[in-house]
Amino acid sequence: MSDTVWLSGITAHARHGVFDFERENGQEFTIDVGYEYDTRAAARTDSIDVAISYADVAATVHEALIAEPVYLIETLAEQLARAVLAYPKVDAVTVVVHKPHAPMAVPFSDVTLTIRRTRLTLVPGEPVRCVLALGGNLGDVPGTLRAAIGDLSERVEVIAVGPLVRTSAMTIPGSPAQDDYWNTVLVIETDLAATELLAFCQQVELAHGRERHERWGARTLDVDIVAYGELEVETPELTLPHAGATERPFVLVPWAGADPEARVRGLAVSELAAAARGEILEERGKWL
Ligand code: AMP
Repeated sequence: MSDTVWLSGITAHARHGVFDFERENGQEFTIDVGYEYDTRAAARTDSIDVAISYADVAATVHEALIAEPVYLIETLAEQLARAVLAYPKVDAVTVVVHKPHAPMAVPFSDVTLTIRRTRLTLVPGEPVRCVLALGGNLGDVPGTLRAAIGDLSERVEVIAVGPLVRTSAMTIPGSPAQDDYWNTVLVIETDLAATELLAFCQQVELAHGRERHERWGARTLDVDIVAYGELEVETPELTLPHAGATERPFVLVPWAGADPEARVRGLAVSELAAAARGEILEERGKWL
């Protein structure tokens, strides 16, 4: 559960805008911020150390407001949300940007933009290094994986591709036998928010005929997010790092191949991969 602290009317003279005169003269911007966190521990202890200091958050917002000018209120709002989500206890933030003196030819009293962001929906300030796991067991899977990497590389930067590994299918006891799986792992960099990256991965799955029938059912292509930067979250939509990341041989072995230095939940992926290698039936290093 989350409660909301609202800070209203944080005002500064700043130079955001697309026009030269906005850059030169600047104008007044006012920000309202609602940050969400569970306030019960603070209520129970009545201790400022357990709470989030609203004075600190207000100072953070003010500092981010007068930082380097940007063209758009959209960019400004995202930057302010990012600054507030840097407080580890904050679960979500709503930012309202007011630009009451925006250059407009008609009479008006205010222009506002309201956004709400969590760590999953926030646009990153710089490219985020992520790990994707790809696999399937229907049709020409290596061919599908090659095509999927091509599709993914149209929107994200592929930094490294792991080896292709074959493993026996994980099935639910009593369900029919399935063909072996082929899997690989990609290290990528992206400017997409985590939820945008998930939607993009699902779009690539769909483009390759993925149908969602049963859990652990046979599939032409599965694309999962194994890790999104250092983000650790558990929501109904996304668990990061992926719940199976530290256990699945078909993730660990190609991941260690793509990034020998990788770590997950404080553990070295290469060590986890070494212990899991016995499950790998076949490994192809050069397969693209
Ligand atoms: P599946 O494609 O069968 O692996 O399941 C995908 C579903 O799991 C999606 O609808 C996601 O919302 C959810 N999910 C939870 N965590 C992750 C993750 N790290 N990567 C991809 N999907 C995830």
